[in-house]
Amino acid sequence: MFHLNSNYQKLDNPYFFTEVAKRTAEYSQRNPGQKVIRFGVGDVTRPLTKTVVKALHDAVDEMAEEKSFHGYTQPQGYEFLRDAIASFEYKRRGCPIGADEIFISDGAKTDSGNIQEIFAKDNRIALCDPGYPVYLDSNLMTGKCERDDVIYLPCTEANGFIPELPKQTPDLIYLCFPNNPTGAAITKQALQEWVDYANKNGTVIIFDAAYEAYITEDEIPHTIYECPGAENCAIEIRSFSKNAGFTGVRLGYTVIPKAIRAENGISAHNLWYRRIGTRFNGAGYIQQRAGAAVYTEAGQQEIRELVSYYQENAKMIREGLQEAGYTVYGGVNAPYLWLKAKEKMTSWEFFDHLLNRAAIVTTPGSGFGPSGESFLRLTAFGSHENTKEAVEKVKSIS
Ligand code: PLP
Repeated sequence: MFHLNSNYQKLDNPYFFTEVAKRTAEYSQRNPGQKVIRFGVGDVTRPLTKTVVKALHDAVDEMAEEKSFHGYTQPQGYEFLRDAIASFEYKRRGCPIGADEIFISDGAKTDSGNIQEIFAKDNRIALCDPGYPVYLDSNLMTGKCERDDVIYLPCTEANGFIPELPKQTPDLIYLCFPNNPTGAAITKQALQEWVDYANKNGTVIIFDAAYEAYITEDEIPHTIYECPGAENCAIEIRSFSKNAGFTGVRLGYTVIPKAIRAENGISAHNLWYRRIGTRFNGAGYIQQRAGAAVYTEAGQQEIRELVSYYQENAKMIREGLQEAGYTVYGGVNAPYLWLKAKEKMTSWEFFDHLLNRAAIVTTPGSGFGPSGESFLRLTAFGSHENTKEAVEKVKSIS
């Protein structure tokens, strides 16, 4: 008789997003015809931009020609895209990152879920609480840790949702800023403390910057490599999903500087290179051409418009709910808002309250970790019309 991987039994089952979907479906069954507005899942709603669509079409046309057909791609990604990323995201900001340190992938979820594979089993991990569930789940699934082995870094109202440096030293720290779910952003000065801590203690920081495009304030770094020394201790994960709307196209990348070496001199870059040679055949040529189009002048202009569309929603939610008497965090440098329950409600009670009274679907903060209790995550990825309507509904029941 076969046995299934028992590590999977350590995961929360059902996944809390499944419970959100179930409660939403039950609500719709009880209230047929009632419009439900979704503030929940962090998926974009605006279509792809003109420049990106043209690049996709052109790449498809190329694939139809014998002389320009592309088969297996280079596992690390095409140079045309890695060069564009290196110069736009890093050189322009004075960061010491080269195109050969960039690995193109099919998205930040794949990379944030797989990166732990190149680290030893006995490495101790630290995670922000609340945090993006992929970090913990992927470590549990591969048997890298038990829940109790993890060093949790509470992100609370008291610390402005920026964790304090850990008292016990981890080998790996996952940081995500601008943050999902709290919408908090870290200043360059605060991030520098983490980089210095990591370099002093031989720790690697896995920095998820999937929401970089939403940064509006000057003191917030766009990449961890703006902090001197980060090239010796930090891996950065990026995505085209939330800036260019590629959630259905699939494209992302991970930066692993060559200087990150374990005690025995082996470089993380070499191991990841070896790993993708076995487990990945590269992101698609068509998607990579679309990614390169994002870095053209027209592409950048369109992306700014796309992001500002969602930023306007974030502002509308933030201001509207504050007017309704709620305490709301985030939404300034991120497409997420972190809404505190007014009375002593759990996240799920608050979720049910907004669903049953206002027909609005949110995401319970407790699903992201115990410190998320009594909060809800709202996303700014809807249409202006739905966002406005939802804010008015919340106001009307407050
Ligand atoms: N990282 C964080 C923090 C996210 O919130 C998400 C998606 O919601 C991802 C990564 C996934 O990005 P991608 O669509 O590139 O896989």
